[in-house]
Amino acid sequence: MSCPNLSRLQSLWAEAPVALSWHFGSGAGAAWNVVLGQRSQLALEKAGVLQEVLDRSVELLGEMAVSGQGRDVLTEYPFKALCISEASLSDTLVSAGMQRYPRHIRYHFSHRCTGVDFNTNGAVFVSEASSDAERMASSAIVVKKSPPADLLVGADGANSTVRMGMMSHAPMFGFSQLFHPDQLYKAVRVALRPGSVGPDRRAVHAQRRQALLQLSDAVGEQVVCQLLPNLDRSYALVLSGRALLHCPQTDQIRELFHSALPEVALLIPDATFGALAAAPLLTFPSVSCSRLHHNGAVLIGAAAHAMFPDMHISTDAGIADCIALAERLRESGGAQSTGRLRGALRALSAERLPAAAAAAGLARAATPAQGRPLESALARLRWGVLMRCSSDLRSLALLPWELKLLGTSASYTDVQRWRSQEAFLLAGLLLCGASTAVYLLLLLTGQLSAASMCPSALSRSLDWLHGAFPAGSKLWVALAAAVGDARKAVLGKLSTLV
Ligand SMILES: Cc1cc2nc3c(=O)[nH]c(=O)nc-3n(C[C@H](O)[C@H](O)[C@H](O)COP(=O)(O)OP(=O)(O)OC[C@H]3O[C@@H](n4cnc5c(N)ncnc54)[C@H](O)[C@@H]3O)c2cc1C
Repeated sequence: MSCPNLSRLQSLWAEAPVALSWHFGSGAGAAWNVVLGQRSQLALEKAGVLQEVLDRSVELLGEMAVSGQGRDVLTEYPFKALCISEASLSDTLVSAGMQRYPRHIRYHFSHRCTGVDFNTNGAVFVSEASSDAERMASSAIVVKKSPPADLLVGADGANSTVRMGMMSHAPMFGFSQLFHPDQLYKAVRVALRPGSVGPDRRAVHAQRRQALLQLSDAVGEQVVCQLLPNLDRSYALVLSGRALLHCPQTDQIRELFHSALPEVALLIPDATFGALAAAPLLTFPSVSCSRLHHNGAVLIGAAAHAMFPDMHISTDAGIADCIALAERLRESGGAQSTGRLRGALRALSAERLPAAAAAAGLARAATPAQGRPLESALARLRWGVLMRCSSDLRSLALLPWELKLLGTSASYTDVQRWRSQEAFLLAGLLLCGASTAVYLLLLLTGQLSAASMCPSALSRSLDWLHGAFPAGSKLWVALAAAVGDARKAVLGKLSTLV
């Protein structure tokens, strides 16, 4: 997005007339659905488009895991989850912009950005051919340069052209990306075979609540198939995993389904295999940058910090960037000043980068397929411990599914806080380990006898505590209240379990 005049942009945030232009790629291949958790819904509400999204999405009941031996397990989401096609979500956001600012934003669809000029904040675009005939006639391809602008916003996804420009022009621009072989996707939209019992029938709850069918299996390599419902009873079929590398042809995909995913093969029409073979192979890298801005250009969304879309993180991170950018620009005042604009972009970088890095860590830990099994188990354990220890004493009694709820609803500030408390936790654990080792050493070398150590150490500690904090002091009152609180929480949980 390029904005010709900053003061006018600032007035847009204040709901006054403004001229903006948006450029879009063709968006071809966006056939997948996204699942939006509580955090995403809060972000959409803050952006004022939640109702529009609700009207176009299906409320998911949970995930139906099909084992292959006929034992299907439905895990209900412990939170409200919305399922919407990526195309509908983009369309909803663009339509909302068009309705709210009908005369002030110019949209240029089917234009691909091929380069950026950071001196003028202008961008070079080529118009994309919409048909084969157009593609054949080279005259149909038009190269355009956008006029100079005060601000250039790169929201062009994980393989961002604006970011590539920053990598070659911005000094000290650090960047890293990680491709995981299991993060390969193909997505198509399917209508299930007439008469087949679709995954929606497996849901047992109220109208418009449907289940997500998830099936994992392997033919040497892992393959995961997800069917995500749309309002019109069609499904987004997302096939992922490294097995896709070995199945480029229709027949190979058909064979893959019949051998590894027979339940899904029964549900989908034969034409789906051809559509999957023709669909582009998508990769979803995890991306991190050392900063988000250069001169008057800024990166937001997946362009700035693409992350594996687990724990329903990703869409919300992009919307959180937009909200933060709007706030920083509003704070920077109405005057048209390059210095203030750059200050606002610097502040945005400082605010959003650590939060996004922490969220990306949480998303990685939540993906069971990531890394070696021991590594990912340790990462999940680490986040579990962090969430429990950092929330408050009450969270010590959290049950595993409540951890998921907490992870998908916590604010970015919370996620960041958990991450920063990790150092303290680690230091505490190391201290405990070191003192235990010293005691063991003293015991083993005979410097200390177990019989004499325990009572004397304990009574000395208690004497010190009594001296330092006499009965009735604030510490004891707070401790007693916290223990009572935890007891109540545990008893509450026990009664629901029984
Ligand atoms: C299979 C799959 C499942 C996912 N599931 C979830 C989920 O459950 N929950 C969730 O929150 N997120 C999910 N995501 C991520 C989500 O779809 C978005 O990709 C993510 O939120 C990033 O959004 P974005 O707007 O920053 O980038 P994108 O969604 O990638 O949008 C970038 C836009 O820029 C355009 N563009 C790109 N390059 C150019 C160019 N050179 N010139 C002009 N325009 C360009 C593209 O056409 C597109 O319109 C999933 C992604 C995939 C692939």
